[in-house]
Amino acid sequence: MPKAVFLDRDGTIIEDGGHLSTPSQAVFIPGAFDALKRLQEEFVLFIVTNQSGIAKGEITEEDAERVNGYVVGRLAEAGVHIRDVFVCPHLREDGCPCIKPKPHFLHRAAEQYQIDLPASFTVGDHPHDVEFARNVGGRGVYVLTGHGPNHRNELLPDVVIKPDICAAAEYILKVSADHG
Ligand SMILES: [Mg+2]
Ligand SMILES: [Zn+2]
Repeated sequence: MPKAVFLDRDGTIIEDGGHLSTPSQAVFIPGAFDALKRLQEEFVLFIVTNQSGIAKGEITEEDAERVNGYVVGRLAEAGVHIRDVFVCPHLREDGCPCIKPKPHFLHRAAEQYQIDLPASFTVGDHPHDVEFARNVGGRGVYVLTGHGPNHRNELLPDVVIKPDICAAAEYILKVSADHG
């Protein structure tokens, strides 16, 4: 069964610029292309993103789709294949089933694409991105880009922290190689 890396979008692959409404606002984190290119040799790649700006009415669902389409398209041009993008458009107080760290989209990916979740990883700049993996027995890696520095002290002591997506990718590849 294939294993996957579930990537947060804002603050992880692209800079966190608030609720992005147009592709021109998307700025890739330096080294993200190479990091994902290496990761995809061993892992199926997904993007999972909470976009509460939709529920707040700050951006539309179409805005979010356009930005996601741009990110996926730019990555594709660089030879990086994102298998699917999952978006939660809700507010936390809505009590929806799909907001991270709830594992809804992980289960959905597992079902749709036969992903081995305990062998999979999540990467993100918020404690929820790490909890997300833990909720299915996978492993989360916390990055210090985006909001990472702001929430660092909220992490459990055993959380793996890396400076950015590049270092996170190296770590994931090494750990997965060590476990055969
Ligand atoms: Mg983020
Ligand atoms: Zn949701």
